[in-house]
Amino acid sequence: MTIWNVKTDNEGSWWVAQGDLPMNLYPQDQAYYFSSEEVFSFHLGIMLRLMNDEANKPQEFINNISHGAELSISLRRKLNLASEKLQQAVEIEEIQAIGVMCRETLIELIGYIYDSDSIEGDENFKKSDVKNRGELIINKYLIGSENKELRKHLKNFLNGAWDYSNTITHSSSKTIHEASICLTITTAVVSSFENLLAKYFDPASGLECKECGSRHLIVAENDETEDLLIICENCRHGFIKD
Ligand SMILES: [Zn+2]
Repeated sequence: MTIWNVKTDNEGSWWVAQGDLPMNLYPQDQAYYFSSEEVFSFHLGIMLRLMNDEANKPQEFINNISHGAELSISLRRKLNLASEKLQQAVEIEEIQAIGVMCRETLIELIGYIYDSDSIEGDENFKKSDVKNRGELIINKYLIGSENKELRKHLKNFLNGAWDYSNTITHSSSKTIHEASICLTITTAVVSSFENLLAKYFDPASGLECKECGSRHLIVAENDETEDLLIICENCRHGFIKD
């Protein structure tokens, strides 16, 4: 960072702080800032505080956990709202309300996937039967023995988020820290299911170029047949997906 000592003809004298952080001007003519060192300390302090505020915004909280996965608009709105409420929560009813919002988010997430697809073994589980509906979804989207471990972890993860949301909803002794953990787990569950769908529906997922082994693959337009034409961005080799 550079602190410029600027003298103007008609607009007085200024300290101008310039560098990686946003620029700002501090007047020299009023006796707030005496030296360039003081301006440096003040500018750095205020900018760090601003950046910290940025990181604490509810949307940033959700973004950090979701790792950029596309959350559906409605689910993201619910999670952002819960995060906002969490930052203002003091009374036990406000903390319980975070649990309620996490519960509703999980019901909506599972309901959304469950209803938009014919799930095998459909036994008409109730809307709020997140565990059983979730298990059917996981079994459908993560098939085969190579997914056995992930199936197990994801079921435990979903069930944990569900159980803990219910605990927060009904307990009269939990704090904002436990509510924050509950929201963190819920957001991570939503993000995990979105990644699960992305993996399932990505036609190039798990493929690699048969010539050079690269995974930089694109799905190209195929004029001749309905089959998917995959092209390697590395060596331009094209092949039809089996
Ligand atoms: Zn290649």
